[in-house]
Amino acid sequence: MITFDRVKPLTNYLFKQKVANKTIGLVPTMGALHRGHFSLIAASQKKNDITVCSIYVNPTQFNRASDLKKYPRNLDKDKRQLRSLGCDVLFCPSDKEMYPQPTELKFDFGSLASHMEGKHRPGHFSGVAIVVAKLFHQVKPHRAYFGQKDLQQYIIIQQMVNDFGFDLTLEQIPIIREDDGLALSSRNQRLTKKQRQVAPRLYEGLRLAASQLKQDGDIPKARKTFRKHLKKFKEIELEYFQIVNADNLQPIKACENKKVALCMAAYLGKVRLIDNLVIIC
Ligand code: AMP
Repeated sequence: MITFDRVKPLTNYLFKQKVANKTIGLVPTMGALHRGHFSLIAASQKKNDITVCSIYVNPTQFNRASDLKKYPRNLDKDKRQLRSLGCDVLFCPSDKEMYPQPTELKFDFGSLASHMEGKHRPGHFSGVAIVVAKLFHQVKPHRAYFGQKDLQQYIIIQQMVNDFGFDLTLEQIPIIREDDGLALSSRNQRLTKKQRQVAPRLYEGLRLAASQLKQDGDIPKARKTFRKHLKKFKEIELEYFQIVNADNLQPIKACENKKVALCMAAYLGKVRLIDNLVIIC
């Protein structure tokens, strides 16, 4: 694996690979890698000659300084794991390299970002779009890999790719879970033992609401089922739960045989977790 922390040597290297007709897959991450990230790497390796994994904790997408400060970082371990997976290129730039000057750019994704993550983390998607656009320019991948875990992020990046005409294909990879159902997340390592025990209840609630929805298509009832379930666990503080059209993430009033996403965010102590479940109902 070749590691770059500067843009210029990375682009020079990748230019040579493209001249040699190699295809490039990009997996953008913030590090503290887990099996969820590894499934993106594996998907990229399957379809591309060269897989580039980026590790960068992007300050412009954090709306709270304390969250940025506490975000888990473990570059040495990440490097070892990427090497053993056979990842070809690691790009781990500094803040100065990614933002040689403070950015004044702001993205507004309108109705795509006005609810769920966009509502509760003001400016988050603007920061995500800035850093992903930079990575797309730097790497110029043929394909870029993102997880369903961050469904709203995926939809917003898809919008950005279409708006700017980035010449690449986006691939969405399913959520990898622990055996007890908890979606893997770098933030899970910040959970206390008790919080970790309770955390799988989030997915349990999503499954309960989903099976309710499949039975009778009653959206308010499914919402109630989910909230009632989580209320039983005092460690969980629900931030939002929404049932939306899975393709454009707009709230829906009826199921009508559509692909529907049940999306939630909740706090366990100071740790904020998100999860979702996509069904046809
Ligand atoms: P992050 O490092 O949290 O920014 O995540 C980097 C990429 O990995 C994003 O596209 C996430 O959606 C994806 N990802 C994170 N957790 C999972 C998971 N449990 N399963 C699949 N993909 C994931």
